[in-house]
Amino acid sequence: MIHETLEAKRDGCALSDAQIRELIDGIVDGRVTRPQAAAFLAFVFNQGMTVDETVSLTMAMVESGDQLDWADMDGPFVDKHSTGGVGDKVSLVLAPLWAELGSRVPMISGRGLGHTGGTLDKLEAIPGFRTNLDAVALRQTLSEVGCFISGQTGELAPADRILYALRNETGTVPSIPLITASILSKKLAEGIDELVLDVKWGSGAFMKTHDSASALADMLCRVGRGAGVMTRAVLTDMNQPLGRTVGNAIEVEEAVACLKGEGPGDLASLTVDLIGDRRARDLLDSGAAYERFCRMVVAQGGDPEAPLLGSGCSERVVESTQAGTVTACDALKIGRAAFVLGAGREHADQAVHPGVGLTLHKKVGEPVGVGEPLATLRVGERGVDAAMALVQGAYGISEST
Ligand code: URA
Repeated sequence: MIHETLEAKRDGCALSDAQIRELIDGIVDGRVTRPQAAAFLAFVFNQGMTVDETVSLTMAMVESGDQLDWADMDGPFVDKHSTGGVGDKVSLVLAPLWAELGSRVPMISGRGLGHTGGTLDKLEAIPGFRTNLDAVALRQTLSEVGCFISGQTGELAPADRILYALRNETGTVPSIPLITASILSKKLAEGIDELVLDVKWGSGAFMKTHDSASALADMLCRVGRGAGVMTRAVLTDMNQPLGRTVGNAIEVEEAVACLKGEGPGDLASLTVDLIGDRRARDLLDSGAAYERFCRMVVAQGGDPEAPLLGSGCSERVVESTQAGTVTACDALKIGRAAFVLGAGREHADQAVHPGVGLTLHKKVGEPVGVGEPLATLRVGERGVDAAMALVQGAYGISEST
């Protein structure tokens, strides 16, 4: 009975697998009312959930929708999830690199909301690139190329869509068991054997402190393993952006440079750490994964040789007004700058500008002189003055060199 389940959680008792399944099934088919679902979220927010309960919640959410199945192909099937950061173009490098190492990477990805850009938005800066492959094209691309990066086909974990909207309305988003089940349900529905999680902390991240990110990473690993998937997590600092570019086309350019062995050190190191295979570094340095990336782009309808979309932007330079050493390059402010230029969206139905964004010439620890460029902005028609002010304000510079 639903009201008994709700009362048990209200009073801090652990729920059984059957109780959780009945609740999630009822939320999806309408037998559980929205007020009951909202009460469930509030009780979980206050009372928490054990690892076993969170495994049950995750699996009930996975089973609420379609599940991808690659039984007719050789694995291993692997993927990565990042909790989202500014300048995070790791997926574009990691998927072809991991495929080059012999794994299959069925990466279902999303669009960005707010100040962090989405992987699909970045890839759509490549002319012709399709992020809406159907089930047949997904299977063919995974079989022939070893990786794809696409949006959902059918509906993976519809329970998450319903619960996430309710969490937003009821102030129950920041709950570790709810975040864990939300993230893992979508990834486990991809039919993978192994998952690596990039859990970010800092100003530009969803989790602001190292301790909160560490608690989330711990729960994600326990629940992922409890659900039968080899799960690892890497904690990464998102106080400054990853790499030197933020935007859509501009991040594709940096990812391509990295695939050719010419990318920024932090992007290459994080990608290699996430894959966790020593051979990844050599492959990246040799540029071998670039060819795999081009094959994926072609399989998804794109032209890897064509100029990226949005190339008509003009440039504006933000210069340093001080001499010294960079002590801060605040990821949230840099992300907001790219957002106000049009690189991101506030509502799911908005379009993003493929060409706007910025390149950071200076990052933390680097020396800078008066009048030297801190960043170059690629601008369109929107938000230029606001973006310049945000970038200027993102930098902290100490006077000692
Ligand atoms: N990302 C998700 O997919 N779900 C959450 O609950 C939080 C971040």
